[in-house]
Amino acid sequence: MKKFYIGAAYYPELWDKSEIDKDIKLMKEYGMNCMRVGEFAWSNMEPKEGEYNLELFKYVVDKLYENGIYTVMCTPSCTPPRWVFEKYPDAMRVKSKDYIEYQEKVHARVHPCKSHKGMRELNVKIAKELAKALGNHPGIIGWQIDNEVHPYDHGCYCEKCKQNFREHLKNKYKGDIIALNKAWGAYRWSLDYNSFDQIEPPVLYAWENPSLVVEWVEFNEALICSYVHEQADALREYTNAPIGTDLMVDNYLSYSKMNKKLDVVQHNHYHTTDNLYRSLFNYDFYRTLKDKPFWVTETLLGWNGSVAAYNGYRSKDYCYVNSLLPIAHGAEMNLYWLFRSHPNGHELGHGAFLNSSGRPNPPSSGVKKLTEVLTKAEDFLLNSKAKSKIAMTYSSNSVKIFFFAPLIAEFDHDVRAKYIDLCHNYFRHYNIDVIETDKDLSEYEIIVSPFLPNAARDGFETRIVEWIKNGGTWIVGPLTDIMTECASKYTEKPYSFLEDLCGVYTKYQLPIQDEKISAKFNDGQEIKLAMGTDAFELVDAESLATYESEELENLTAIARRKIGKGQVIILGSAIDQKSMLRLVNRKPILEASDNIDLVERSGKENGIIATEIEGKDGYIVLDKEYYDVLNDKKVSGRIDISAYEALILKEI
Ligand SMILES: [Zn+2]
Repeated sequence: MKKFYIGAAYYPELWDKSEIDKDIKLMKEYGMNCMRVGEFAWSNMEPKEGEYNLELFKYVVDKLYENGIYTVMCTPSCTPPRWVFEKYPDAMRVKSKDYIEYQEKVHARVHPCKSHKGMRELNVKIAKELAKALGNHPGIIGWQIDNEVHPYDHGCYCEKCKQNFREHLKNKYKGDIIALNKAWGAYRWSLDYNSFDQIEPPVLYAWENPSLVVEWVEFNEALICSYVHEQADALREYTNAPIGTDLMVDNYLSYSKMNKKLDVVQHNHYHTTDNLYRSLFNYDFYRTLKDKPFWVTETLLGWNGSVAAYNGYRSKDYCYVNSLLPIAHGAEMNLYWLFRSHPNGHELGHGAFLNSSGRPNPPSSGVKKLTEVLTKAEDFLLNSKAKSKIAMTYSSNSVKIFFFAPLIAEFDHDVRAKYIDLCHNYFRHYNIDVIETDKDLSEYEIIVSPFLPNAARDGFETRIVEWIKNGGTWIVGPLTDIMTECASKYTEKPYSFLEDLCGVYTKYQLPIQDEKISAKFNDGQEIKLAMGTDAFELVDAESLATYESEELENLTAIARRKIGKGQVIILGSAIDQKSMLRLVNRKPILEASDNIDLVERSGKENGIIATEIEGKDGYIVLDKEYYDVLNDKKVSGRIDISAYEALILKEI
């Protein structure tokens, strides 16, 4: 692709055909050049089985293209029409609530069972019909499969899904039920199974064995991946345009596994004004998954809403910055949800570019500003990208483990927030990649691994040790390498391999953070601690910091061991920003105030994007002269940046 794509979700099937020309006029006026179409329109596309009616969508794609607007076409499998469930009543998902299992009725969306063979055949058929009709259309720049796939409410509890789960476990444990009982600790409370046939999925919100829940979610993950991948295979028969599926912000359903067989990482997010910084974590993650630009397929304009508005108002300036940030960090597309507010139905309270009467809302002027800025900065942005020598790990398996076996109350079911607030957010003035543990490590000089309970997966243990020997610095812990992939603790030592690698003996491993426990670097610098306390004795390592409290006195809080050309630094607790950056020991991109996000871009063009992300005044200090692309002038020294302002600075 040779440009950036800005636009929205567009639902022409819900409006009179005569509205299309009016809508397109406004899209053009605001510089939009991409619409996402068709994600929920199955009943319109195939009102009766085998009777395909794609004329409207061909007409819309033609019309948009004639006006310089591209289309991301969607498969509609998220919302099968009623005739599908008349044909296959058992294709409806079985839900589990309050220990009662019952078959859902058609009332909103995401109600199919993803194991149902007949249903999946119908998904593939409609996907193929769409691709046959539009796959080679020059206006189609990509495909989205389904919408926000996820094991909603823990997935489907129908007999077929249960049986598939048992088969999945039987294969995984090679038919050995005793091995499963041991791996899950099922003998406690006499919960052990005599055969795989006895295994039932976990009851939602009951006090379940975390191993059972993690395994059930991983089973659902594999099921959902195969469900998406088979639609991708069907589309590929008739189109060369890139294919993806729009996932939500967490990594609960593995972005890495899902995207391995897809072409483009697609992502939906709805951050608020007080947590915009957390969106940066996602962008630093998505650009690493395929080492190419990702797509923001949904974000908001103004406010969220279902049948009522909620989550606060976001101003035009916020919307501008919220849309520029992904591009600064590596996206090539930013689409809003949605172009025009629904006048009725489930989401009539949601903000949009236009209100239901077709009049632009105030944040729409932020879109106009964005498209003007992108036109000015296009050369710089297309000829540079964010590259990083520092990475932090973010494993999907670890997210699942902490979701169901958090160990520390502070995880409180928002695991991602802890990764961000106690690590990623420290690096606002650095380029940092967020990586799955199966990622190639060779490009990095420093890798930070907090909260990675299972570090032995995907061959990560072997690869990280080799990488250290070749010169890498691994800053590891806390709560890393402490559990198997199904959430059982290790029993010979607190870690599977970290203790030996780091040359320490872990004397205490406390899950409680007591305010009386503090630590200091050897030179006296205080360290603020969080998220548990592992206290070390040295075996073959040096101490960088020790605990201060009476019970832990003289025990090491941070230890370092040199290995080959590199080193490993183990943390007994999560530490504050100043302490982390001291260990990282690299210069930031620039000196800047805390509310500024900095991205260094390099390639044919080199420079820096500085963006204010907290809605208040800030500054940067340039160490040489740059060209300010948006204001057409040379700049140097200290520069003030106002609330939600961005500067694009090109090296001269
Ligand atoms: Zn099912």
